[in-house]
Amino acid sequence: MSVIPLSWPNLEDDDIQAVVEVLRSGRLSFGARQTQFEQLVSQRAQCAHGIAVSNATAALHLVLLALGIGPGDEVITTPFSRIATANAILYVGAKPIFVDIDPVSLNMDPKQIESAITPRTKAVLGGEIFGNPIHIEKIAQIAGANDLPLIEDATEALGGMYLNKPTGSFGRVGIFGFHASKQVTTGEGGVIVTDDERLAELVRTLRNHGRPDWVPSGYIHTSHELVPTLRHDRLGYNYRLGEMSAALGVAQMDRLDTILDRRRHIAESYMRRLIDFNELILPTISDQYAEGMSWFAFIIRLANDYGSSERDRIIAGMSRHEVGTAAYYPCIHLQRFYRDQFGYQPGDFPIAESISNRTIALPFHTRLDATALDLIVQTLKVMLQREQLLRQ
Ligand SMILES: *Cc1c(COP(=O)(O)O)cnc(C)c1O
Repeated sequence: MSVIPLSWPNLEDDDIQAVVEVLRSGRLSFGARQTQFEQLVSQRAQCAHGIAVSNATAALHLVLLALGIGPGDEVITTPFSRIATANAILYVGAKPIFVDIDPVSLNMDPKQIESAITPRTKAVLGGEIFGNPIHIEKIAQIAGANDLPLIEDATEALGGMYLNKPTGSFGRVGIFGFHASKQVTTGEGGVIVTDDERLAELVRTLRNHGRPDWVPSGYIHTSHELVPTLRHDRLGYNYRLGEMSAALGVAQMDRLDTILDRRRHIAESYMRRLIDFNELILPTISDQYAEGMSWFAFIIRLANDYGSSERDRIIAGMSRHEVGTAAYYPCIHLQRFYRDQFGYQPGDFPIAESISNRTIALPFHTRLDATALDLIVQTLKVMLQREQLLRQ
C-alpha cells in the first residue's frame, strides 16, 4: 500500500463503540439502527423517506425496477461515472443512452439531454460527479419538462447544498453511497431518498424478498415462528443492510459536517498549492457554491494539448513514490462489454473521452495534513517537470 493512500475512511472510537453495541445487543438485522440511519440521511436530503440497502448499485437497481423500467426502455445517462451507474440500467434489461458531459461540471451536459429523448426514454440517470453539483438543477428541469423521472445519482455528493437545496433532492429519487471510499461510510451501503411514498414502499419490499415491509417488535433473528408473515407479493431481492453497518452509518452521519468541513479545507489547501501550475486544470467550483460543496475527490487534469500517455506516466511515477493516485474515470461506453454490446467507439463522446484521458485523482481523505500535502504536491511537480509540463 502506498505511504499516502488515495483514500482512507474517517474512523473514530465512537464508530467502533457503535458497532460493538450492536454485537452486544444480539439484534443484527432490521433494528433501530437501520431506521435511525435512514432518518439521518433522508433528513439531510430533506426528503420524506429513506431506504437503506446493501450498496448504491443495489439502490440504483431497485429504483429502476420500482419505476417499472425494463426491456425496450431507454435511460439517458452519463458515460463519465463509476460503471455501476450504467450497469444498473443493464440489470433491468433497458438500454443506457449516453450523452456527453459538460467540461466544467463534468456532469451530463443539459443541452445534450433534450436531443437524446425518444418515445422509449423512461428516465434520466445522473448526478454530481466528484460531488460537483453544477448543472443538476438544469438536468432536473429538462427531465421534469419532458415528464421523465430524474434518478439523481448523488453517491458522490452526500451532504452538499446547491441553490438552497440539498443534493439528493433534485430528482424524483436520490441515491447515496456509503462504500469505504465515500465521504462517510458503512463499509458497504446505500440509501435511497424520495418524497414519493409509493416508490418508497415498493423499494422497501423489493429490498427484502418482496415481503410486506413489516417486522414484529419481538423479532430477534429469522425464525419462522417469530415472523408470522412470509408472504411474498412479488419477486424481490436480498439487498438488506445489516445493523452493524447501519450503526456505523449513524455514528458517521453524526460527524458529517465536521468531515465535510475537513475535506473542504483540504481541497482549498490543494488549490492554494497548485494554483500556479499553469499546465493543470483544477476543479471548478464557483465561490458562490464553495460553502455547500461536498468534496468526494480532488481531481486535476492536464491541459488540453496533453493525453493519456503523459497522464499514465505521471500516475505510474506517483505510485513509484508511494503516492496513491488514480485515473478517475475511464469512459463507460469504451469498456469492452459496452463496445461489444452497443458498438460504441472512441470519438462517440469526445468531451468525456478527452477529459477522461487527462484526469488524475490525488490522495483525498481526512488524514492528510500539511506535510502530506506538501509531499504530494512536490512529487507531482517532479513528475510534471519530467514530462516537461511545467515550464519555469
Ligand atoms: C460509488 C458509486 C456508485 C456505486 O456505489 P456502490 O456502493 O459501490 O455500489 C455508483 N455511482 C457513483 C457515481 C459512485 O461514485
